[in-house]
Amino acid sequence: MQLLKDKIKTEGIVLSNNVLKVDSFLNHQMDPVLMMEMGKEFARRFQDKKITKVLTIESSGIAPGLMAALELNVPLVFARKQKSLTLTDNLFVEKVHSFTKQVTNDVTVSRKFLTAEDHVLVIDDFLANGEAAFGLARICEQAGATVAGVGIVIEKSFQPGRSKLVEAGYRVESLARIASLDNGQAQFVE
Ligand code: 5GP
Repeated sequence: MQLLKDKIKTEGIVLSNNVLKVDSFLNHQMDPVLMMEMGKEFARRFQDKKITKVLTIESSGIAPGLMAALELNVPLVFARKQKSLTLTDNLFVEKVHSFTKQVTNDVTVSRKFLTAEDHVLVIDDFLANGEAAFGLARICEQAGATVAGVGIVIEKSFQPGRSKLVEAGYRVESLARIASLDNGQAQFVE
């Protein structure tokens, strides 16, 4: 998606050869026009999938997830990150290791909001090793729901997340695919 690539080129800050900071339009300040366009693009790419729900993880997945849900005319559910839980009767719980924070959280979704009838579009802001996306997919599995696909705003294609998800049988659609962050520059996959 050209608009997003342009934004990454002009505003993205390469923190290291595997971390990109985009806090001026996605992770702290948000660009609502860009969010809206991203929602439309996700909806266009998954329009044939009979999506009934969008599932993301707090906090940075919520904005793109909500815009996709608005375009698809379905609810958005966001999984919550919590410290280890004891009372989990009414929750689906999965452990997810955070790439940026290097901690493992219990990620939870209320059993009320996902059912075996759901066709779920999983959305996240970044794809690195696939931990977050697989955690959300496992929550769908617990609910008996179908994962209709995975939509990612920024995929770091030099990390293994995408190939792991594709190998597991998931359709992955990323709006920007980064081939490398070497020498302080984002290079995109052609
Ligand atoms: P994964 O779970 O695929 O290993 O990593 C994706 C998650 O880690 C995303 O939810 C995102 O919050 C965070 N993340 C991974 N790589 C980056 C990055 O380069 N920049 C930022 N801002 N977040 C990242």
